[in-house]
Amino acid sequence: MKCIYCGDDESRVIDTRDSDRKIRRRRECKSCGRRFTTYETAETLDITVTKRDGEDEAFKEEKVRKGIRNASKNTKVTDDEIEEMVEEVKNAIRGEKQVSAEDIGRLVLEALKKRNEVAYIRFASVYESFDDVESFQEEVEQLKKTEN
Ligand SMILES: [Zn+2]
Repeated sequence: MKCIYCGDDESRVIDTRDSDRKIRRRRECKSCGRRFTTYETAETLDITVTKRDGEDEAFKEEKVRKGIRNASKNTKVTDDEIEEMVEEVKNAIRGEKQVSAEDIGRLVLEALKKRNEVAYIRFASVYESFDDVESFQEEVEQLKKTEN
């Protein structure tokens, strides 16, 4: 993503927010250090995800991002790495018509394993029992309540 000030290609993502179709990213140029915001259209992958209970739903990358982000909370995993992992998952399923929620969970695990052990273990310890990565978020919330 080109810097709007100096045109350099290298920027660091410092914040990512997503709504339905738009992804807003706060970036910092690695060359001039200035910050700017980009709005990207979320890529729509036309893939059906079969959940554990047999229900089908449309693939949503926001769900993957949330699951990864939650597992990575309070670790050294950066926003850039989270985006890389989302891309890895998407690259692995692009072109498929149908995948299972377990497949996606496994891909997230592989991506986390390469980057951060804590986030990996957190995700691994709960993912088995969930229909999708979104449920994982609820579990993390529960864990936080128990810890306090
Ligand atoms: Zn720049």
